[in-house]
Amino acid sequence: MTARILEGKVFANQIKETVKNDIVALKEEFGVTPGLAVIIVGENPASRVYVANKHRSCGDVGMYSEVIEMPADSTKEQLLNKIAELNQAENIHGILVQLPLPKHMSADEAEILNFIDPDKDVDGFHPVNVGKLSIGQEHLVPCTPLGCIKMLELAGIDIAGKHAVIIGRSNIVGKPMFNLLLSRNATVTVCHSWTKDLASVTKEADLLVVAIGKPNFVTAEMIKPGAVVIDVGINRIAPKKLVGDVDFEQVKEVAGAITPVPGGVGLLTIAMLMHNTVKAARIQLKK
Ligand code: NAD
Repeated sequence: MTARILEGKVFANQIKETVKNDIVALKEEFGVTPGLAVIIVGENPASRVYVANKHRSCGDVGMYSEVIEMPADSTKEQLLNKIAELNQAENIHGILVQLPLPKHMSADEAEILNFIDPDKDVDGFHPVNVGKLSIGQEHLVPCTPLGCIKMLELAGIDIAGKHAVIIGRSNIVGKPMFNLLLSRNATVTVCHSWTKDLASVTKEADLLVVAIGKPNFVTAEMIKPGAVVIDVGINRIAPKKLVGDVDFEQVKEVAGAITPVPGGVGLLTIAMLMHNTVKAARIQLKK
């Protein structure tokens, strides 16, 4: 039996519809249009594509957005000044600094991200938001793991009581995913590059979330029959060929449900950025 394919587009469109309606409601209630500012430093071509997609998506849902392009040789102080300005700007409710930063600033990444007002931190990377998530007070939550959760909810897949296994413990995906699943009453195991006999752990998973960045790493023998498999990985293996961390063709024959790459959770990430910006606007309007 082939697995149910969880198409990201279907769920992303549902989320964007909700966001659109929320934006109309905010305009009616407060006369305010939520605004997102994306800062990009330097010329990284992949980052430029991501930023252009975010800008376009804002337009699609009726949100205001600004792309702030800073030259590659900008100083940390110039970037912090720009963030300070946006922290104060009344028409901007969400601020995002596109990563990676140029090499000369990468050591200052934490200081730069921590400078964003936590109530405008739509990436959910600020320590205040990370701390809140870890004690079950979800404020602004990282978009990719939040998108995975929304997808499960919209697909009608229960989380409570399930054994969820996550492969990968990054601050962007693995760790927030752990907290999101735990607070939804899953029993959660986190695996990483030091885990021994990984397959014996993943074989126990009712729900497997994979975020490691290694093409086709998870194979059919690692899957419990009927499991739900969420593939967060995005790996470019040829100029026009993207694959996930899961060997989709093999694993779909064993799993109960699976996300494809491309066309899976990646599409949810931008939808959740829109969701977070509207949420941030509401947070600020309540202050
Ligand atoms: P990362 O490099 O920060 O972390 C990788 C994690 O994988 C680490 O915790 C490491 O311990 C673990 N790992 C590596 N090799 C392993 C192995 N052999 N066995 C077990 N664990 C292993 O990566 P990240 O930022 O979390 O991203 C992971 C993947 O998800 C990448 O492909 C990235 O492109 C993708 N990603 C997608 C989105 C999206 O929008 N869909 C967002 C963020 C990341």
